[in-house]
Amino acid sequence: MSKKYNIIITGASKGLGRAMVETIMLKYPKANVTAVARSQADLNDLVTKFGSSRVLAICGDITVKSTMEDAINGTLNKWGSIDGVIFNAGLLSPVQHLHDQNYDIEGAKRLFDVNYFSIVQFTNMLFNKLGISPREMKGEDANLNIIIVSTGSSTRACDGFLAYGSSKAAVNLLCAHIHQELYPIVRSVSVAPGVVDTNMQIDIRNQYKDAIIPEVYQKYVDLYNSGKLLNPMDVAVVYCKLVIDGIPDEVDGKYVRWNE
Ligand code: NAP
Repeated sequence: MSKKYNIIITGASKGLGRAMVETIMLKYPKANVTAVARSQADLNDLVTKFGSSRVLAICGDITVKSTMEDAINGTLNKWGSIDGVIFNAGLLSPVQHLHDQNYDIEGAKRLFDVNYFSIVQFTNMLFNKLGISPREMKGEDANLNIIIVSTGSSTRACDGFLAYGSSKAAVNLLCAHIHQELYPIVRSVSVAPGVVDTNMQIDIRNQYKDAIIPEVYQKYVDLYNSGKLLNPMDVAVVYCKLVIDGIPDEVDGKYVRWNE
């Protein structure tokens, strides 16, 4: 590992994002991480564990412009480059049906802000800050890898996950647009992680029993009871390898599953 690897990870406080930070710290000793999330205590814990020379904590809501600016400027000021971003922060709620009487449209818009528009805005700000455009750079000048955490329900209707699945379908297409506009200056891929043992799964089991049809709900409960939920550390390895080693041509701009 001779190059610089300064990586921004959103939603880094818990679950899959936290596992990504830990994986990079443990497996890639020359890499640094800017960890973005709202939970200050969890971010402080990462800095305490791995040291402020390798972890920069940015506490804030990812939909807020100043959080994006702090992450981008903070990374550049501290380490001088941004070589990859993993857009991992995500929201599942509202879990509802179109036929529900009080479909939470404002909640669905908020979900789109977190899961989709924050990524569009962050990417736009990043490209402008780094001077990335097809006119100004040649392929060999750039080394930016963008990984977006998607889901299997971005490609098929999964009961109750209308807002969530739609927002993740939108990020799949966002990757295709990054590819269409900027390949090979920027590489991007949208990766579904499978069903992972995080707070999101706890929420599905504990909060959404009555919000989704019984056979779908039972599927999630059965995965948990049979110990088949994926360990976040096992899944995180794939995302970290993509952001550090670079996204291969054959998946650039595409949606793929983590174990494909
Ligand atoms: P999680 O444990 O609930 O973690 C979600 C992360 O997103 C937290 O670190 C949270 O941090 C952050 N976050 C949420 N809203 C945010 C906001 N407004 N601003 C900044 N950070 C925000 O869930 P997870 O399973 O690890 O989810 C990670 C990603 O995997 C998501 O994109 C999710 O859609 C995707 N995914 C998960 C599964 C699964 O089975 N778990 C399956 C498919 C896809 P703070 O609360 O500290 O802000």
